Amino acid sequence: MIYLFLGVIHLNDDYNINVQILDFGNSIPAVATINDDGSFSIFLNARLSYERRLEAYWHEMRHIQNQDFCGEMSVEEMEAANQH
Ligand SMILES: [Zn+2]
Repeated sequence: MIYLFLGVIHLNDDYNINVQILDFGNSIPAVATINDDGSFSIFLNARLSYERRLEAYWHEMRHIQNQDFCGEMSVEEMEAANQH
């Protein structure tokens, strides 16, 4: 499980975001994480089609831009429950 830890997040216009494609072994489309150095990672599920992957990418980008990392659930759980 990839957990996204809460904290004060300062974003500016030049986000450092790296995108990786992984086979999650489940149907969750994507997760976003904050790294120790303040950069972000977006993990996209390799099982998605190209179009779905693109959708999932923008979905996670929106979370990052909105600093939308709230709640005590992991992102995976939020995505699964669609409570965001
Ligand atoms: Zn989401």
